[in-house]
Amino acid sequence: MKPVYLDYAASTPVAPEVIVAMQECLGLEGNFGNPASRSHLYGWLAEEAVENARAQVAELLNADPREIIWTSGATEAINLAIKGTAFAAKRSGQGEHIVTSTIEHKAVLDTVNWLAQQGFRVTKVAPNSAGEITAEAVQEAVEEDTVLVSVMHANNETGVINDIAAIGAVVRAANAIFHVDAAQTFGKLPLDMGTLAVDLLSASAHKVYGPKGMGALYVRRRPGLKVEAQIHGGGHERGMRSGTLATHQIVGFGKASALALESQEADNQRIAALRERLWQRIAQLPNVSINGGDAQRLAGHLNVAFHGVNGDLLLAGLTKIAASSGSACTSASVAPSYVLAAMGLSSQDAHSSLRFSLGRYTTEEEVDAAAEVIVDTVKRLLASQ
Ligand SMILES: *Cc1c(COP(=O)(O)O)cnc(C)c1O
Repeated sequence: MKPVYLDYAASTPVAPEVIVAMQECLGLEGNFGNPASRSHLYGWLAEEAVENARAQVAELLNADPREIIWTSGATEAINLAIKGTAFAAKRSGQGEHIVTSTIEHKAVLDTVNWLAQQGFRVTKVAPNSAGEITAEAVQEAVEEDTVLVSVMHANNETGVINDIAAIGAVVRAANAIFHVDAAQTFGKLPLDMGTLAVDLLSASAHKVYGPKGMGALYVRRRPGLKVEAQIHGGGHERGMRSGTLATHQIVGFGKASALALESQEADNQRIAALRERLWQRIAQLPNVSINGGDAQRLAGHLNVAFHGVNGDLLLAGLTKIAASSGSACTSASVAPSYVLAAMGLSSQDAHSSLRFSLGRYTTEEEVDAAAEVIVDTVKRLLASQ
């Protein structure tokens, strides 16, 4: 028997409905043409499928389909958003200062660190103890020549949600561009580009029951917002991202978005109830707490500190559960999670933390089985210490 999957924040299985839609874009009998082929039916049909998917992704954001740029995932969307605007702003003499947070995904942190090597100035805002990046903290960090602010919508480790409406207002007032890494929230929380002061937003298909290797960048159509291409050749995607469009991946992302629009509310309610059921069982153990428990969180995230228990031994003991540890293995050592560290957790508590993340296909039986294994394993470890 495979372990119970409680790692939906890392990736989700592709929804059966999405698999069917993708399969229809592969073989000889299917929609396999190049969407850029303008001279025959195969190309026209592929283009129609791509544009249908673009409308599906746009609808979830209440955006114009022309504001959606296809990418190979959130990592590429983030690179395009941050490098593309930073270089465009620098070239036009608008400034060289970038604001982000210390708890961003590596796709953001490594990108801004690289830009710092290229001469940009970078300020990283720290979260409060609940794990939130506040609008006040962003306000303090922006400077006269700030060109770009990049803050994630929800954190991948804790599920803590940032108030991007309030942060957006601060960024607008500072006359800067606002990029949001929404890889954890696209299709899970309402995102209305009609009301949010967000200029750029990155999304990933494989976090919402779509395929891996697929994502999108939302680019607001407004004067003065310029995103320089990072991948050249062919001029696809309004010149911002060249490369033959992967029809099957795009159609899969579109279908996953349409499903999310239908089911996100019901999914969230069911998943939150299952998460609460899991927590009630774990809470019977001594010295446990939820990291980010004082903040608004995504329905599926449960990041638990088992104070006094070695998290890696715990994870190793939990062979019947697939979850994530509060540590990140680097080549040389096991470092505690920089996200939990930034929230003020001691290295020991960060090492004692595990992330369980539930999703659309999590069942009550799975939660009960997982809870039993967690409680038994923690009790055994505590007894043997
Ligand atoms: C998964 C994730 C990414 C990277 O997305 P990919 O599509 O896997 O490249 C970026 N940011 C956050 C917050 C994520 O959870």
